[in-house]
Amino acid sequence: MVADLHVHTSRCGHARGTPEEYVRRAADLGLSAIGFADHLPLTDREEPTLTMATEDLPDYVEEIRALAGRAPMGIRVYLGIEADYIAGTEEAIARMLARHPFDYVLGSVHFLDDWAFDHPGYRDRYEGLDIDAFWLDYFDTLSQAVSSGLFDVVAHPDLAKKFDVFPTGDMRELYEDFAQTVARAGMAVEVNTAGLHKPVGEIYPGKELLEAFRAARVPITFGSDAHAPEEVGRDFDRAVALAGEVGYRDWVRYEGRVPSLAPL
Ligand code: ZN
Ligand code: FE
Ligand code: FE
Ligand code: ZN
Repeated sequence: MVADLHVHTSRCGHARGTPEEYVRRAADLGLSAIGFADHLPLTDREEPTLTMATEDLPDYVEEIRALAGRAPMGIRVYLGIEADYIAGTEEAIARMLARHPFDYVLGSVHFLDDWAFDHPGYRDRYEGLDIDAFWLDYFDTLSQAVSSGLFDVVAHPDLAKKFDVFPTGDMRELYEDFAQTVARAGMAVEVNTAGLHKPVGEIYPGKELLEAFRAARVPITFGSDAHAPEEVGRDFDRAVALAGEVGYRDWVRYEGRVPSLAPL
């Protein structure tokens, strides 16, 4: 069975449940492992409803490491983190990441300039927006994140579609270029099922983008982006089916930031 490498904890201020409850759910589903990837504090400001507080990071690390050491319910537990890419703060992010023994780091773009574009509270900014330009801006920022070398896995790679907004033109070339950028960086990409439960109603990435990753030989992880215990492993049958459809035969997990492949 695959692993769910993207689950949150109540520390981020917008999720609920204890880490033990997430692990129990993963064990009940028969997943081979679960990886916590709660939101790393931003380095330039505190956002109590978006990420854990800076002072909570050591407790998060200790709590998940203790769980991993016990291997409760016979399941592997990994210590990951989901880090926001904010241009100009790369060194501060690197310093924060270096202080803790993470198994892997998911890299996310949730902000374009100061706009939290995937946050329902700021959805009014889509009114009258040039969606084509927005998409290009998103992938441009995501490419910078990939090239920063800070992260192991690209989280929810086409998050720009969350509210069911798509550009008008053919995206194939953009996808192929982006997939090459990820391949050159030696990173993996996440197949994230949370999009099925957002207005877009699709897995991140969509099939065409996942095909581009496959063609570029970019490995994949699986993530539910669970913000509640019952969301762990949600719709993984669909994620595994999609991966198989585009030709994936294996998936990747990380220990101490070293990837290893497992068969699908
Ligand atoms: Zn979150
Ligand atoms: Fe995210
Ligand atoms: Fe997340
Ligand atoms: Zn996320």
